Amino acid sequence: MQYISTRDSSQTPFSFCDILLAGLAADGGLYLPVEYPVLNDAQLTKWRSVLEQEGYHALAAEVLELFVDDIPKNDLKGICARAYNTPKFAHEDIVPVSQLEEGIFIAHLSEGPTAAFKDMAMQLLGELFEYELERRQDTLTIVGATSGDTGSSAEYAMRGRDGIRVFMLTPKDRMTPFQQAQMFGLDDPNIFNIALDGMFDDCQDVVKAISADADFKREHRIGAVNSINWARLMAQVVYYISTWIRTTDSNDEKVSFCVPTGNFGDICAGHIARQMGLPIDRLIVATNENDVLDEFFKTGDYRVRSSADTFVTSSPSMDISRASNFERFVFDALGRDADRVSELFGEKVKTGGFDLSADDVFPTLADRYGFMSGKSTHADRVQTIRDCSEKNGVLIDPHTADGVKVARDVRHQVDTPIVCLETALPVKFAETINEAIGKDPEIPSRFAEIMDADRFVVDMPNDAEAVKKYIAENATV
Ligand SMILES: *Cc1c(COP(=O)(O)O)cnc(C)c1O
Repeated sequence: MQYISTRDSSQTPFSFCDILLAGLAADGGLYLPVEYPVLNDAQLTKWRSVLEQEGYHALAAEVLELFVDDIPKNDLKGICARAYNTPKFAHEDIVPVSQLEEGIFIAHLSEGPTAAFKDMAMQLLGELFEYELERRQDTLTIVGATSGDTGSSAEYAMRGRDGIRVFMLTPKDRMTPFQQAQMFGLDDPNIFNIALDGMFDDCQDVVKAISADADFKREHRIGAVNSINWARLMAQVVYYISTWIRTTDSNDEKVSFCVPTGNFGDICAGHIARQMGLPIDRLIVATNENDVLDEFFKTGDYRVRSSADTFVTSSPSMDISRASNFERFVFDALGRDADRVSELFGEKVKTGGFDLSADDVFPTLADRYGFMSGKSTHADRVQTIRDCSEKNGVLIDPHTADGVKVARDVRHQVDTPIVCLETALPVKFAETINEAIGKDPEIPSRFAEIMDADRFVVDMPNDAEAVKKYIAENATV
C-alpha cells in the first residue's frame, strides 16, 4: 500500500514506514492510502473467528497487513501482540462492548495504561516506532505539548524504549490531579516532564519554535506524535471492526457509531472503516460547546475559531478551534481533489474557514458517507452522567457523556443500534463527576497507588531557548 498527501496533485507515492516517522507531509497535507482496501464478505467472516479465537491483537495484525507492505507479516503479528495484551490493557477483550440501554451500546476504549482512548493508537505507535528505528539504526526525540490525555498516553507508550526520548510540556498546575499524577509519576530515564510557567497555548508555541529551528530539529532528531499521524488512524480502524463484530451476529447487520470528537481523529477512522466496506450505517459526530464540526455537518460552513473564541469546557480533550483530521474527510468528499484541498486547508482555513453549503457535494454527505451530528453542553453532560448513573447504573466520563447525549437525541432518526465510543474513564475527570453525582469516582485498582507516588517533573520558564538547552543536555544521540 502506498500513501499520498491530501495536498499533492501529482500524487507522489510514499511507503508506510516513510510516512510513519514523517507525520505531516512536506506540503502541509496529511497522508492517506492511495486507495482504501475493500473488505468482502469472506474476509469479514474470517475476521469474526480470528477475533473470537485468537483475540484483538490477531485481528489488528490482519487489518494492518492491508495497509502495511514494508513490514513482514510475522513482525506485524509480534508488534500487535506486544501492543494489545493484558495486563497492558485491563480487559482481555481489549475493547469490550456493553449495552447501555435499548438500542445504545458502549465500546470501551479506555482499558489501556492511561485510561483514555488515545492508548489504542499510541500503544501501537510505540511498538512501530521502536521497530522501525531499530531497523534504521536511528533515534527519535519526541517533543510535545499536552493539556492532558495525549501526553500521558504518549509517555506510557514510549517509556523504556530504545532510541526514543520524550520531552512533554504541560501548563503548570493546569491538568487534573489524576492526569498530573499519571504523567509525573513516571521515572523512566527516557521520559522528561516539563511544567511550563504558562498556558497550554504557550506550551504549543514553544514546541512550534523548537520545530521551526531546522538545525536543532535535525541534530536532535526531533519528531512528534500528534493526532494527524496516519498510523494512529490505522490503529483506530481496528476497534471499529472489532466492535462491529461484537455487536452483530451476521454480516448483513449494520451498526451506527456515535463519537465524541474535536479533532475529527476518532471518527475519521470510522469514516475509513466505512469506506472499506465495513457495514456501518451512520457516523454521528458529537461535539461539546466547541461545535465547529456540528456546524459544518448541519450547514456546510466550516468556521474555525480563534483561540480566544475556543471555550474551556468540562470535556477538555474536545476543546479545539479547528479539526486537524477533518482535511482527510474533505479530501475524500471532494473526490480527492488535492488542488481544492490545498486551497481550502492551506489558505482559507488560515483566514477563518470555508463554506461548502452551495457545493454539489454538501447535500450528499449524509447519504454517501453516513454523517450526522449533534452537540452537548456542560449542563447536558452533567445531566447525562447523572442519568446514566441513576437509571443505567453506569458511570461515564464527561467526553463519553457528550456522545451518549447526542446518541439519545438522534436515536429515533437512526434505524440501527448506536454504539457510543467511550473515550476516557471517569477517574480522570473527578471534578465534573462529583458535580453530577455528588461524590468522586472510584479509583480503579490498577491506578490505586499513583496518587501517592513520587513526582518527576522540572519547572521551566516560558522560554523556548531554555527548553532547547534542556533538550540538548538530555538528548544525547
Ligand atoms: C483526544 C480525546 C477526544 C477527542 O479525540 P479526537 O481526536 O478529537 O476525535 C475525546 N475524548 C477524550 C477523552 C480524548 O482524550
